[in-house]
Amino acid sequence: MARARLLEFRRHTLSAQILHPAHNFEPVEAQVEVRWDPLTGYAARLVRASSALLAPPSFNLEEFASATRASCPFCAERIELATPKLPTKISAEGRIQRGQAVLFPNLLTYTKYSAVAVYSPELHYLPLNEMTAGLMRDNLSTHVDYIRASMRTDNDAVWASINANHMLPSGSSLFHPHLQSSIDPLPSTVQQMLADVPGERFRAYIETERSNRERYIGTTGSVEWLASFAPIGFNEVRALIPDAVSPADLTDERVAELGWGIATILNLYAELGFQSFNMALYGAPPSSHDYVLNLRMVCRSNLQSPYRSDVTYFERLHWQAMVDTVPEELAAKARQRFGS
Ligand SMILES: [Zn+2]
Repeated sequence: MARARLLEFRRHTLSAQILHPAHNFEPVEAQVEVRWDPLTGYAARLVRASSALLAPPSFNLEEFASATRASCPFCAERIELATPKLPTKISAEGRIQRGQAVLFPNLLTYTKYSAVAVYSPELHYLPLNEMTAGLMRDNLSTHVDYIRASMRTDNDAVWASINANHMLPSGSSLFHPHLQSSIDPLPSTVQQMLADVPGERFRAYIETERSNRERYIGTTGSVEWLASFAPIGFNEVRALIPDAVSPADLTDERVAELGWGIATILNLYAELGFQSFNMALYGAPPSSHDYVLNLRMVCRSNLQSPYRSDVTYFERLHWQAMVDTVPEELAAKARQRFGS
């Protein structure tokens, strides 16, 4: 397959003209750049707005934390009695612990195996600037243990992912910060899209981004970090893990790398004025031979009034992102934190 067809960084700039009220209704030109993701073909529109599309935080998150703490089932006073336990075939203890992190099954069934892990029952309030590599590592580790145990007991449970809804705008129903994992006999829509990408294209993508450096953030040893050419949401960062296809493959060392990288990006998100994010680590079946395990994370709107969702008709119904954050600028800021 020709290299150009194997991997394409397709982009197209459109110009528009309006008679602008702030310029005495004189003609004003503006541009929007449309890009397509080299892996999936997903399109993104990069707009240049006169003010940020998403408002900076003005909401008192700490105060809201205090208001929600008294009835929180994930806090230390209630977690033992209020959260479910795993079947004994998955965990004799009923819950999986690593460091301060505690994993238990989700009350709401949305996949065959779905679990939640809090960073700590003590951490009801965990703003992104206080996220640490150790907290993220331990939480991820509980999910890796859970995924392995679920796969051991069920040969059909092969499609695993580790995910985050962090704060209400991201879809989280509870304030207390946590990660979630899913294992199903079936892939999600995006898991299937990514599983259909030839391994050769994944490797060409990493090599190309690493050599041109525009969007490359750095390596943590065996994990490659970069800003997405065509982001799926605001400030999208990708991690690619060659030689792994499922979260079940992750050694403790690789989980620690991922934990450090994710926490470092979340600290940057905080600096950029964001409090909420989504994340997905997309696994393919462990028997896959031509897949690169990969993670995506994006900022979401801040929790405040008046609220502007970052998901418009473009994202929800046209399956195109519309963002005003530039991947190359994000990568430059992130590179400083990665020391590369
Ligand atoms: Zn809590």
